[in-house]
Amino acid sequence: MAFRPIVVDSKLVGSNAKTGLYQVLVKLRDGSQCRVFYNNKEATVNRLQTTPCPICRRDYYCNCLDKFTDQITSQIDLEGLIAADTAQTK
Ligand SMILES: [Zn+2]
Repeated sequence: MAFRPIVVDSKLVGSNAKTGLYQVLVKLRDGSQCRVFYNNKEATVNRLQTTPCPICRRDYYCNCLDKFTDQITSQIDLEGLIAADTAQTK
């Protein structure tokens, strides 16, 4: 069965409007967590080591989620997260 990441939670954990760098902590439905780094519009996904990889089942570093960057980021409302964060801090 093909892996399909379903984002169930996303949280902005780092932001720098000046440099366009944002960091979002993402929880997937299968229980894995990953961190999405945004460098302006360029996104990279890093799986957190807390749970085995949902694709290859390894619990050490792998690049599996890289292939799903688009699927994951399409489910993250970065603008909304930034807006909510800005509203909170100002
Ligand atoms: Zn993997």
